[in-house]
Amino acid sequence: MTIPAPFPDLNELLTLIGEAGRRMSEIDATEGGAGNISVYIGWEMEPRRVFPNTEPFDLPEAAPELAGDSFLVTGSGRRLREVIQDPAANLGFVRVSEDGARATLFTSPRRLFARLTTEFNSHLAVHLDQVRQTGTNFHAVIHAQPPYLTYLSHVPRYQDETYLNTHLLRWQPEMIVNLPEGLGFVPFLIPGSPALMAATVLALRTHRVALWAKHGVMARSDLSVKRASDRVEYAEAGARYEYMNLVNGEIGEGLAPEEIRAICAEFGVAQSIY
Ligand SMILES: [Zn+2]
Repeated sequence: MTIPAPFPDLNELLTLIGEAGRRMSEIDATEGGAGNISVYIGWEMEPRRVFPNTEPFDLPEAAPELAGDSFLVTGSGRRLREVIQDPAANLGFVRVSEDGARATLFTSPRRLFARLTTEFNSHLAVHLDQVRQTGTNFHAVIHAQPPYLTYLSHVPRYQDETYLNTHLLRWQPEMIVNLPEGLGFVPFLIPGSPALMAATVLALRTHRVALWAKHGVMARSDLSVKRASDRVEYAEAGARYEYMNLVNGEIGEGLAPEEIRAICAEFGVAQSIY
């Protein structure tokens, strides 16, 4: 999937990232400085009217496929709910050098952070993998900590990917349509570690949302940052219904597998969960 021209401009992307951050905050998925957002931009974009200050930036890994391409990335410790108030102050713009080995960080004079998010290594690995796999020219990644999903990831039976997906996606007809691959489950790994990065890349190669056990989620979209935040919302809604059902003695039925298969047949959804 690639976005066709005319491409969204820098200010549109900044506003959309702010709106996605606000939405993640509205569903209680961003306590304190938790959560982060990055967007890969595979077309020429001039950052200096918004981000006039420059400094060298060490890429976590060389990325020759991304030579000359750019990212918008939230600053470390910034609150996702506040990005919308002044996106330029809360985000950095990273442009990869023409050889793909180095990068430049462009920032605003109102910059409110010392470093970019410490999760940028995971974000970059996911962006890079998607560009390599699909050749996309746009890719958004959101990390958030939605409470119902995160709570269920502490319960052993939901740590099985088949059990997790068959139980979470049964509560609304839209869920299988929006998450036809379900959620990828990633066992607990230290935040920011190379092991978490590698497991996340694999989970997001075949899913649009990865559930990090005992931590939160990472969601992606090659269409828009709002689409990625929608996916977090759908997954969290499924987890919320599931939690409600648990505390209510599991008296809810959920959609039956044959009902979900009928929805998929009607809407042409290819899925292998039910
Ligand atoms: Zn986190």
